[in-house]
Amino acid sequence: YQAKRDRTGVEVYESKRDSNTPDRLGLLGDLRRALDAHEVQLHYQPKVRFDGQVAGLEALVRWVHPERGKVPPDEFIAIAESSGLMPHLTEYVLETALGQVARWRAQGLRVPVAVNVSPRDVHTPGFAGSVAARLARHGVPAGALQLEITEHVLLEDPQRAADTLAGLTGHGVKMSLDDFGTGYSSLVHLRRLPVSELKIDRSFVARLAVDAQDAEIVRCTVDLAHSLGLLVVAEGVEDDETWERLRDLGCDAVQGWLVAAAMPPDETTAWLLARGSRGWQRPRAALPAAE
Ligand code: C2E
Ligand code: MG
Ligand code: MG
Ligand code: MG
Repeated sequence: YQAKRDRTGVEVYESKRDSNTPDRLGLLGDLRRALDAHEVQLHYQPKVRFDGQVAGLEALVRWVHPERGKVPPDEFIAIAESSGLMPHLTEYVLETALGQVARWRAQGLRVPVAVNVSPRDVHTPGFAGSVAARLARHGVPAGALQLEITEHVLLEDPQRAADTLAGLTGHGVKMSLDDFGTGYSSLVHLRRLPVSELKIDRSFVARLAVDAQDAEIVRCTVDLAHSLGLLVVAEGVEDDETWERLRDLGCDAVQGWLVAAAMPPDETTAWLLARGSRGWQRPRAALPAAE
């Protein structure tokens, strides 16, 4: 994930590419304080099936810096990853998400929540056990938690990653393979990773309706995933036409602004309650919601 980190660094800190620039260190210190002060929040984005049923919610971290305003997750996650803060951020996210899941369950809303974890987390000794202990502490069944990983977990010490993931699935936690199709996608990875869901990266979904090649890539990915017994979720679905194409290609669920952007917890509760058992209904003329 070196490339991603570099790319992010270049985008944000144009003239300061060194990972130890004062700016970067400043942001890191601010993030550490923001975590301690509980200023980092989680928003939730629904995953819905084509019949409208809510398959789950994905927790996405949000940080509003007191001076800089919204800092995109890609930026501060790269900083957390390269600084050793990642395990702390992930603990924070898991703790917050599981607390929310427990509250929703107490209200009768039994919706699974997916948490993104970084390769760093998967390589942290004792990670599987700590997730299991946290689930127990919140009284949340493992089946209500999903972890989204990327193929990058296999770049460094694939055996240890495989052991950790086996530990997690052994506890009953479901694994999802995020951003599929970017970078290192390979059949070997799919075989080695104990995932039950595959998420097709937004970059293929975005132009699906207008680009025949992207459509073919999505078709092959859906077929491959299904032949391996995996559920397929398409991310970044913004319009009706894409939704229809994905349904016709046999995709299982979608996520994207067409359905809903990531929402703060209260809004998510209202969204879930408003849908009730009918699930999400596609509006006649859908207007993509701005995030
Ligand atoms: P991701 O896990 O692939 O999440 C999908 C990203 O696409 C999110 O961006 C989401 O807000 C955005 N998105 C969803 N629907 C649409 C759409 O229809 N159109 C467009 N253009 N974008 C859409 P976000 O929230 O900025 O997160 C970016 C990445 O940061 C995530 O990609 C994930 O890799 C990482 N991330 C977010 N939260 C966490 C976290 O708690 N822990 C870790 N380790 N990584 C996180
Ligand atoms: Mg994700
Ligand atoms: Mg993704
Ligand atoms: Mg992505």
